[in-house]
Amino acid sequence: MGTQAVEQETATATVPTRTGLLIIGASQSGVQLAVSLRALGFDEHITLLGDEDHRPYQRPALSKEFLQGTVESESLIFRSNDYWAGHNVDLVKGEYIVRIDKEADGSGVAHASSGREFPFKRLALTVGARARKLEIDGSGLDGVLYLRNADDALALKARVGDATDVVVIGGGFIGLEAASSLQKMGKNVTVLEFGPRLVGRAVGEETAEYFLQAHRSRGLDIRLNTSAARFTADDGGTRVAAVELQDGTVLPAQIVLIGIGVIPNTQLADQLGLAVDNGVVVDRFALASDGTTVAVGDVANMPNPVPGSEPGERIRLESVNNAIEHAKVAAYSLTGRREEYAGIPWFWSNQADLKLQIAGLCNGYDQTVVRNDRERGKFSVLYYRQGRIIAADCVNAPLDFMAVKNALAKGLNIPADAAADPGIQLKTITTDS
Ligand SMILES: Cc1cc2nc3c(=O)[nH]c(=O)nc-3n(C[C@H](O)[C@H](O)[C@H](O)COP(=O)(O)OP(=O)(O)OC[C@H]3O[C@@H](n4cnc5c(N)ncnc54)[C@H](O)[C@@H]3O)c2cc1C
Repeated sequence: MGTQAVEQETATATVPTRTGLLIIGASQSGVQLAVSLRALGFDEHITLLGDEDHRPYQRPALSKEFLQGTVESESLIFRSNDYWAGHNVDLVKGEYIVRIDKEADGSGVAHASSGREFPFKRLALTVGARARKLEIDGSGLDGVLYLRNADDALALKARVGDATDVVVIGGGFIGLEAASSLQKMGKNVTVLEFGPRLVGRAVGEETAEYFLQAHRSRGLDIRLNTSAARFTADDGGTRVAAVELQDGTVLPAQIVLIGIGVIPNTQLADQLGLAVDNGVVVDRFALASDGTTVAVGDVANMPNPVPGSEPGERIRLESVNNAIEHAKVAAYSLTGRREEYAGIPWFWSNQADLKLQIAGLCNGYDQTVVRNDRERGKFSVLYYRQGRIIAADCVNAPLDFMAVKNALAKGLNIPADAAADPGIQLKTITTDS
């Protein structure tokens, strides 16, 4: 986090000969796993290890409040040093694990690039994901940036003051959040999206179109079906000065922010010989294919936890809610209990005054209902499969979000024909049929 928060960090406690559980990846999932284990009475020593030099912090603010400077970095830190010390958890920062030797009983030794070794009885992989890189001419220029972690955010913030023009590459959640933040900070922002619509993977067509129109009406220059051909440098030859598009258009840019998705960090799982398929393949109890290692959060490919989903359907989710819920499942596993994922996956994204909340997963939908209450600025899309509600995207419509989330959690339905009237409160038409 900010330099102040970093300087305050002093503890890299002594690591015992062999920790009870080594958690590799000290972020949302790793923190939750340690906290949940202690809540369940797991009394073995825990080592929570990560490669970043910061105490574990909340990432969502990096593209929003932290970028805009409206939140203190200290408030993003999950837990104090006192908490970790008081709960027999060693927080180890700045160590990158490059190799793991593991025995059949689940124990082993993790080797860091520094040469340090971390022996363990059990292992948890909460290594998350890394930004997908765009390799084109000029991608190594100063000012061509990504936004996955605190160092990325600090690098971006350090350049914002001098910049007038920003080009954001990628019209997904991170790109749109950062674009909205930078626009709010007075920058002239252009968003380039390679595909035919925004947020392609996560929402349906109606929501994508709503965001396109909403952002454009707020002054964001969004160009669909557009990609960058190269980045060109200023007179000094080192700093980015412009983005040249495939059609030859040149856009001035003192900052280029690339947000084209992430790649799960499966390197260690590969090295361990675990099953990997767009993430570490885990069962319903967050156990990897060796039956002893748990893998949690952005890195894990798990059975779709939504009740009623197709048998065998798998999913890798990138959200805070998933990291938390999945870590709880893993904590049960590590304490010898078998508890499945509880709750309905949900997600949020704040872009300017547009507060999106998504309940459920819209994969495989065959019908949508749009509730557009222009007067009150509320917009929701409800997704159905074979007449049953499976998900909803809700913009500035928290009551719709809550109604759908509750219905999904209780296995109830919200009939499509009645839901089409935006004047009707969804919770009043929820049924059990
Ligand atoms: C800018 C931004 C905004 C976001 N906004 C939202 C939002 O609004 N809503 C939402 O629900 N979600 C949001 N997310 C997503 C959310 O933050 C992630 O889903 C969540 O952080 C996943 O947690 P994780 O612990 O599984 O993985 P990560 O947060 O990726 O953490 C993994 C950690 O492991 C470390 N690591 C990796 N490999 C090694 C190794 N070999 N050795 C040591 N350490 C290693 C990484 O450096 C990292 O610190 C956002 C993410 C970003 C980047």
